[in-house]
Amino acid sequence: MRFGIALLFVPLIAGCATVRSAPTLPEELSVVRDQLVVYSDFKLATRHRLVEELVALRGDISEQLDVPVSDEPIHIYLFSKAESYKKYIDRHFPELPDRRAFFVESDTRLTVYAQWGDRVAEDLRHEVTHGYLHSVIPNTPLWLDEGIAEYFETPRGWNGLHVAHVKLLDAQASKGMWKPDLARLDKLAAIDQMTQRDYAEAWLWLHFLLQTTRERKLLLQHHLSILHEQAQAPPFSQAIFAVEPDAAYAALDHLRMLAAENLVE
Ligand SMILES: [Zn+2]
Repeated sequence: MRFGIALLFVPLIAGCATVRSAPTLPEELSVVRDQLVVYSDFKLATRHRLVEELVALRGDISEQLDVPVSDEPIHIYLFSKAESYKKYIDRHFPELPDRRAFFVESDTRLTVYAQWGDRVAEDLRHEVTHGYLHSVIPNTPLWLDEGIAEYFETPRGWNGLHVAHVKLLDAQASKGMWKPDLARLDKLAAIDQMTQRDYAEAWLWLHFLLQTTRERKLLLQHHLSILHEQAQAPPFSQAIFAVEPDAAYAALDHLRMLAAENLVE
C-alpha cells in the first residue's frame, strides 16, 4: 500500500539556497525537456520514456482542465538509491514524513524530489502534476490539488481510473463507514490532515467531474479559470451544490459503477 504523496509548501528562508549546493544533491547530470529540468545521479537517456511521458502530461493536464501552460521550470531531482534520497531529505527537510517523492513550492522555485524505483513513474506523474498546476494556479485548494495529482498519476490512456482508490472507497461505502462529503474536503487546509481515504475521495470527485458529463467538466474548468485569473474562488462545493444539489449521491453512484466494472469479486 502506498502512502499519500505530499504536496508541501516549505517556506525557504534566506540561506536555504544552500540546498542546491549540498553535496548529496544529484545535479551533475541533467536533461532539459520543455518545462522540465531533470537532474539525476545516474545517466538518464535524454529521451527516456518516462521523461517523454512527463512532457506529454503537460498537454493532457492543459487540455483536460482547460488551463494554460507555463514556461516556468520545474526542477526534478532523481536519486538512484533510496539511502541517498533519505539521507538528503532527512538533512534538508527533517520535518517531512517518510515519502518516496514530494513537491516543494517556494516563492521562486518549483521542485520535485524522488527516488528511482518500481513506483517512480506513478510518483513523478503525481508530483510533476503539482508542478504543472502550480506553475499556472499557485493557490489551488488542497483537496483539489491532490485530487488532480491523484487523477493524473494514473498511466496515460487509463482516463484517470485509479483502481486502488475505487477499491478502498467501495469497501468503506459498502460497510457504511464513508460517503462523499465535498464540503468537508473543502475545509482541509493542511497536508497532514489528509488521510489516504481523503486522497481517494479527492480523486473520486475529480474522476466524477472529468469523466461523467460535459456540464460537470465545464464547472470544474470554470472554477479553475477563476482561480487562475483571480487567485481565489468560493469553495467548489458551493459551486457544484448550487447547480447539482444531489452531487454527492451521483458521485457515490459513479463509484459503484466503477467498482462493478473494475473490481473482480
Ligand atoms: Zn500530492
